[in-house]
Amino acid sequence: MEEPYYSFNRYLREKFGEKVHRISIDAGFSCPNLDGTLSKKGCIYCDNKAFSNFAGRNVEISKQIETSISYLAKKSNVKKFILYFQSFTNTYADIETLKERYDIAKRFPEIVGIFISTRPDCIDEEKIKLISSYKEKYLVWLEYGLQTTNDDMLAMLNRRHTYEDFLSAIKITRKYDINTGVHVILGLAQAFSAAIDDVQKIAAFDIHGIKFHVLHVLKDTVLNKLYGSGKVKLLEEDQYVRMVCDFLEKIPKNIVVLRLVSSANPAHLIAPPWINKKNEIILKIKKEFEKRGTCQGYFFAKR
Ligand code: SF4
Repeated sequence: MEEPYYSFNRYLREKFGEKVHRISIDAGFSCPNLDGTLSKKGCIYCDNKAFSNFAGRNVEISKQIETSISYLAKKSNVKKFILYFQSFTNTYADIETLKERYDIAKRFPEIVGIFISTRPDCIDEEKIKLISSYKEKYLVWLEYGLQTTNDDMLAMLNRRHTYEDFLSAIKITRKYDINTGVHVILGLAQAFSAAIDDVQKIAAFDIHGIKFHVLHVLKDTVLNKLYGSGKVKLLEEDQYVRMVCDFLEKIPKNIVVLRLVSSANPAHLIAPPWINKKNEIILKIKKEFEKRGTCQGYFFAKR
């Protein structure tokens, strides 16, 4: 079945002519929303240990990379890798520290790309210039956790940044022509009206990729307390499938879908359990598009 959306795998194959794997690492950064600078509580859904294998485990960075490369090379015979600075806030340090950590990529000839995930309020022109300097040798992306364009919702999530912060970050990132990804959460209490508002704004951004996060509840989080007291309702699997299709239909065809469904470590996940049936959900999304006779960008093109 042909993919009705622009998958990350397809994008990487087009760029490199072969399969490329992304390696997620914890480069030892913190987050201003956890270290007390903005707050000590973090975003209400945050538990980095559930998001990635190395998060918060103090494994040396080179060791993380070696372990992942050797495992993936054996498992899938892949020869090229993207280094993904995923855990916590990966631009939250001084320039020297950032350079030292990003430079670790240079020790591994198999690494062909550097992806950096961060908060929109943790970037400035000096950092962007540094990140831009890696473009000569690597495929470089900067991913921003936006989550929603609605400031009330951002406050509810305790993100401690605004939509305006995100707009400033995008502007400076694009000035240096760095590929830009945006993370959004689907399943917030805003339901469809605010989600539609998000889509309309996001469709107009000068961005290259989108990463979907299904709102899910992890054990040691504020969200778990809210969920336990019945104040939060989560999406059912079929609702999510329809919501993703609605979203993708309205954004341009050339925006890469960096991730269609998030997953979580089962040891930390409270609900909903279906997020870890990734392949089934992806198949359902493809079938939903087939049933509708649409695809990513279908309604964007017709505006
Ligand atoms: S910005 Fe990221 S790392 Fe920081 S608290 Fe929020 S989700 Fe966690």
